[in-house]
Amino acid sequence: MNIVDIKDTSGKLFYIGGVVRDELLGRKSFDIDITYIGNAIEYCAKFGKVLRVNPDFGTIRVDVGGCEVDFASTRAEVYDRKGHLPRVTKIGCSLKEDVLRRDFTVNALAKSVTTGDIIDYTGGLEDLKHKTLRVLHDESFIDDPTRIIRGLKFAVRFGFELDEHTKKLQTDYLSNINYDMCYKRVKKELTETFNLNSQEAFERFISQGIYKLVTEKDICIPQVNIEKLIKEYPVQNVWLVYTGILGDLSRLELTRQEKKILDDFAALQNNQMNDDYEIYKAFIDTEPESILLYAIMQDENKARRYLDYLRNIKIQTTGDDLQNLGIKPSPEYKVIFDKILRVKLQNPQMSKADEISLIKNSLE
Ligand code: ATP
Ligand code: MG
Repeated sequence: MNIVDIKDTSGKLFYIGGVVRDELLGRKSFDIDITYIGNAIEYCAKFGKVLRVNPDFGTIRVDVGGCEVDFASTRAEVYDRKGHLPRVTKIGCSLKEDVLRRDFTVNALAKSVTTGDIIDYTGGLEDLKHKTLRVLHDESFIDDPTRIIRGLKFAVRFGFELDEHTKKLQTDYLSNINYDMCYKRVKKELTETFNLNSQEAFERFISQGIYKLVTEKDICIPQVNIEKLIKEYPVQNVWLVYTGILGDLSRLELTRQEKKILDDFAALQNNQMNDDYEIYKAFIDTEPESILLYAIMQDENKARRYLDYLRNIKIQTTGDDLQNLGIKPSPEYKVIFDKILRVKLQNPQMSKADEISLIKNSLE
């Protein structure tokens, strides 16, 4: 199902990584990776329309019969600076060398495009059978701590577990984190993991201490089931509802919109909200993710009161209506609208005519 139509008799092309794992699991892949023993940029352009080339990494993206395929040259890497992008030491190395730079054994399987044979240098087939995630060497998390989050993602997505030794390496790393790491990659993995909307992922993230990769601050563990809440009230930035509870995402490079969500949440926390009117006013111009964060961390009842009920109440009177009543446009309009709103929140069945007579009465 993940296999594209490529005719090649060289014996040097191999499906690699996630795509092989997914095929063996009977799942559809997000992307198709193929590795070429040699220079993929020179060799693989012939398979279709070239979409993108990255000479530094020896990779080329090609449209093969309507399917985007990433071809990579086999490569060896070293992590000169732990936690950052590796340096490529050799392009066109052996398949084995290429495989050994990968994260988990189940992601280190290759399948020959020519013969369909599976090549397993690291015991990935056995681990796949036992639903086990195993790193390829003891320095793996030190080289690239984002692999810890990738492990969480795969564990939850496939129902896999870390093998005992890998678990120990993870615990060791998390008790001695080198915060000088590439947070762009951390953010990418967090986004992919938590966009799965999984309470289980969240609980593991907390209980295994994986959250410590993001913040050194103490955290408050919420009692609310976040997965259920998001299913009830879908939002766009699911991952930010999960990670926003950490209170400190300063290490991640957040977009303006993402910052606004956290700022809105912070503003809500300082808001008293003593009655329906105050709840309405606090939430009305707030991002949906911020409201969910408030529900999780502060007051679920108030957030639900707004989401289930108050937000559907709208006043119908417009500026034109006020002008027709002979009131000249001025900041006074806002005061009038607020006044209607206060009454309407208590009497939501009010019609527009009721609103207008309320204004007329107060003018007398
Ligand atoms: P997904 O299904 O989420 O795409 P994937 O396993 O295909 O998962 P990709 O991010 O597409 O993951 O990467 C493709 C392959 O590249 C992986 O299967 C793995 O072999 C290798 N890889 C990706 N990220 C890392 C990493 N941080 N460290 C080592 N190898 C990695
Ligand atoms: Mg992939």
